[in-house]
Amino acid sequence: MKAVVKRVPKSGIEITDVEDPKVGSRDVLVNIKAAAYCGSDIHQYKWDEQAIKGNWALPTIIGHEFCGDVVEIGEKVKRLKPGDIIAGETHIPCEQCYFCKTGRMHICENLKVFGVHTYEGSFAEYAVIPEIIAYKLPEGTSHEEGVLYEPCGVAMHAVQRTYPEPGDSAVVLGCGPIGIFIQQIMNALGSKVVATDIKPYRIEIAKKIGAARDVINAAEEDVEERVKSILGKRGPDIVFEAAGSINTIKQSLEIVAKCGKVVLFGVCPENPTLDTTSFIVYKEIDLLGVFGRYMFDTWYRVQRLVSDKKIDLTSVITHSFPLEKAEEGFQLIMKGEASKVILTP
Ligand SMILES: [Zn+2]
Ligand SMILES: [Zn+2]
Repeated sequence: MKAVVKRVPKSGIEITDVEDPKVGSRDVLVNIKAAAYCGSDIHQYKWDEQAIKGNWALPTIIGHEFCGDVVEIGEKVKRLKPGDIIAGETHIPCEQCYFCKTGRMHICENLKVFGVHTYEGSFAEYAVIPEIIAYKLPEGTSHEEGVLYEPCGVAMHAVQRTYPEPGDSAVVLGCGPIGIFIQQIMNALGSKVVATDIKPYRIEIAKKIGAARDVINAAEEDVEERVKSILGKRGPDIVFEAAGSINTIKQSLEIVAKCGKVVLFGVCPENPTLDTTSFIVYKEIDLLGVFGRYMFDTWYRVQRLVSDKKIDLTSVITHSFPLEKAEEGFQLIMKGEASKVILTP
């Protein structure tokens, strides 16, 4: 089969033929119909600090967000059958450790990330995955919609962590796909949402989708002033840091209301120096970290909002390429000229 492979620890990818995957007794073989690019794929492409520090697998088939059709199942698989449409959960849990046994498989002590710590990945015609990470989608789901359950799950998880209350206002720093999903979910909950970004391309997408009532260009405007003029002097009840930069991490603590909540989930390449006394202690901030998705609580919630048409997952897709043109997708994202890019193997 054809696949996008990373073989050597330097920048670039290969699009090449690899051996077809073999199905184990607890595995399912998936014919991948849509795979989406994510930030970690770019780290893999560049093979930067993130990849080196994280001890990521080599060789590996790149990609972890995917949706496809089950074509074969192992003899111990009970829940799925050929023909089912599934999306992949990226976290592969051990099912044995303290966190797996206490309902938090997504932060399993022996966690493997599909397409990052495994040879198998989603930028390929087929993938073999353990049954436990296959989420069966409702019949009639399109593959383009299904592939976005995973990234939208991060947004759902971020929102869930804050236990939003009626009347809460929210600022989302960053209008990448997950930032946009948070805007949609908070809007669906009835919150007044304000978003920021520095890239005109992303600002335009957020404006077009319209889940945030105002989208601030943080490169040109004073974010704190504008947020106060829109949401009031007290500041937002919740701030989602969805950009992963030192500036936005600091900004999230500066602009949040006293007793507010700040959610961090952007992967920041450097460590910020923070005035924790002024901005966390004196303000009584709840600072929340988010990694991945609850398995599978977030998935069911995304499914419900999608079926009720409260959120529109495919609104963030800006480009789609066949597998052979995977390089073009990487280049577009690195230039900042795309939101969600899909491969259709
Ligand atoms: Zn991802
Ligand atoms: Zn575990």
